[in-house]
Amino acid sequence: MGRVDGKTAIVTGGALGIGRESCLLLAQHGAKVAVVDLQDNEGKAVVEEIKKSGGEAAYWHLDVTDEQEVKKIFNEIKEKYDTIDVLVNNAGIAGDNKPTHELTLDEWRKVQAVNTDGVFLCTREALPYMKQQKKGSIINISSIYGIISAPDIPSYHASKGAVRLMTKTDALLYADDGIRVNSVHPGYIWTPLVEDLGKRSEGGVEAFRQHLDSLHPIGHVGEPKDIAFGILFLASDESKFMTGSELVIDGGYTAR
Ligand code: NAP
Repeated sequence: MGRVDGKTAIVTGGALGIGRESCLLLAQHGAKVAVVDLQDNEGKAVVEEIKKSGGEAAYWHLDVTDEQEVKKIFNEIKEKYDTIDVLVNNAGIAGDNKPTHELTLDEWRKVQAVNTDGVFLCTREALPYMKQQKKGSIINISSIYGIISAPDIPSYHASKGAVRLMTKTDALLYADDGIRVNSVHPGYIWTPLVEDLGKRSEGGVEAFRQHLDSLHPIGHVGEPKDIAFGILFLASDESKFMTGSELVIDGGYTAR
């Protein structure tokens, strides 16, 4: 028996990285997965992979910052699968690595639009369905940088701090409705997002990866599956007593 048998899960940013791995693992454990992303080819490839292994999934193109589209697509997903049991608010961007005094308002807002507005819009759309069902699990992907900070990418750290507290507020607001809301705080995970940061770094990708490895007491960066297993746990009823919590999966980064 799968750990999330019969549940419907929406994973935003499900085409690549942590989202992709989460889609595969949730499907492997019995969930029907709605993969939503901007990257259509990669998103459809995730669906094909799930179907080939006997799982159930479908892809929707969705920009999580588009209020009307979020409404439309969540409605389509509900029509197709009948329930929305799990929402993984995973879509996120890193933004420009500039100090605060050099950031433009547009650069700042671009990151908040995806990383916080997107979480708000998708959560708001899923809540009425979950309230009706009297159950649901919302999993917000924050970061170690939602707990501690670093002297870089100010807009990203601000957005992930916001997601941490949005999680706790919604956990309190909807506990009576049987809806659990938790945040996940990954350390550095080797995904296209992080590789892209490496490409933009002075010393190149390999030096960047070695530097990141050294930041984690465990000796290396994580892989998407490390986070996907945490997401699977929060999606499943194994975590039924957990809400408003922070699941830190960071190779010891924040333990210092
Ligand atoms: P990734 O490899 O870049 O994958 C994220 C996916 O989300 C991409 O396909 C991306 O498309 C998509 N996306 C971006 N903006 C979107 C939008 N507006 N609407 C829908 N989809 C959108 O990222 P990742 O590293 O797996 O990160 C996933 C989440 O984990 C993010 O919230 C990130 O902040 C968080 N996180 C990551 C790490 C890490 O080290 N990787 C650490 C802590 C937290 P595009 O390629 O077109 O942007």
